[in-house]
Amino acid sequence: MEQSESPEQAKEFARSALSLMIAKKIAANPNNFTVWFHYFSNKYPDLRRTLDILLSNDQEFTASRNAEIFEKFFTFDGERTAIDGERTAFDGEKAAISEAAGNIEMELVEVLKYLGLAGDGAAEYGKVLEAFSGEIAEQKGEGELKSLVTSILSSTRDMEARNKKLEVKLNASSTEVRQLRDDLEGMRVEAMTDALTGIASRKLFDLELKRAAMEAMEQGEELCLLMLDIDRFKKFNDRYGHLVGDQVLKLLGATLTQCVKGQDTAVRYGGEEFCVILPGTGPKDAVKLAEKIRQRVSGKKVISRKTGEDLGKITISIGVGAFDFGEPLSQFIARSDGALYTAKRTGRDRVVSQDEVQDKELAFGS
Ligand code: GH3
Ligand code: MG
Ligand code: MG
Repeated sequence: MEQSESPEQAKEFARSALSLMIAKKIAANPNNFTVWFHYFSNKYPDLRRTLDILLSNDQEFTASRNAEIFEKFFTFDGERTAIDGERTAFDGEKAAISEAAGNIEMELVEVLKYLGLAGDGAAEYGKVLEAFSGEIAEQKGEGELKSLVTSILSSTRDMEARNKKLEVKLNASSTEVRQLRDDLEGMRVEAMTDALTGIASRKLFDLELKRAAMEAMEQGEELCLLMLDIDRFKKFNDRYGHLVGDQVLKLLGATLTQCVKGQDTAVRYGGEEFCVILPGTGPKDAVKLAEKIRQRVSGKKVISRKTGEDLGKITISIGVGAFDFGEPLSQFIARSDGALYTAKRTGRDRVVSQDEVQDKELAFGS
């Protein structure tokens, strides 16, 4: 693992990690220490986000949860999942897909079995024909010829019956395989869609960002990323309840869909965080769009559907990052996330681009 922090910073992260671990009664073993050290180093935004969610929901850090977190972020045994809860959904989906794949395999085995039978039948038929031509060559008498023709006719009928059966079986199998393929496609689409808001899920984000970055490099085009986070959403939930909070998330999802177009992808990144992938877009236009989204959200009154009560306004903070060709995507995301963090720190309800981060932080710090 590369070390980029200075010894002073490292000392600070280590100190913070240890005091948090003591406060949360987390065993101070090397794995847990790695996790919490990097929570403070903020090197892995996914890790930070996951732990923030667990902390904000007052989750207990049991030994098994700690082990799970370490395994998720610091071992390389397959795909990383970011948010607690997503893992079970992901596992369920994996199981369903593997079941469907198993069904298809069984179906194919059936088909192959029948093809094998047909093959056997054809081989038998071939033997009869061979014998027939051999006997004809021996120039048999009329009676024998007649019985040969009868036997060849009966073999032909047998063969025909077998083929019919095979055709029926193959038709049934191909319908079944088509159905299973549709089911798989349905599951794939479902996994790519966030169930609450109906916009793209984190899973699609991972794929789409990779694709967009490849394309940007191939075509020499710009690529920007907006990271959005609802301001003081915990307070809103505390005041009006989680279900009303969920409605706000839906509303934000719909607003994003209205604001983006063409090849842009609006994503629910996790919890109350969203992002928008903007292929072929430079930082200036990305900031403009972010500002439009911010204004559209803050310009809306949130009204309770149930009671008609005016729940006030929701504001969001947005960080804007621009992709540097060839950089790891985690770095691109971290930079956009850093801009979002600055937007939060410097007052919320604002858009901050990656280029403004240092200036704003200096101005805010002084
Ligand atoms: P900040 O302005 O710094 O972002 O403050 P915040 O309160 O929004 O941030 P914090 O990270 O402390 O809290 C995020 C909250 O978002 C905590 C959790 O209650 C809420 N949240 C996360 N996911 C969901 C969700 O799926 N539904 C609802 N209703 N709330 C959620
Ligand atoms: Mg948040
Ligand atoms: Mg928030």
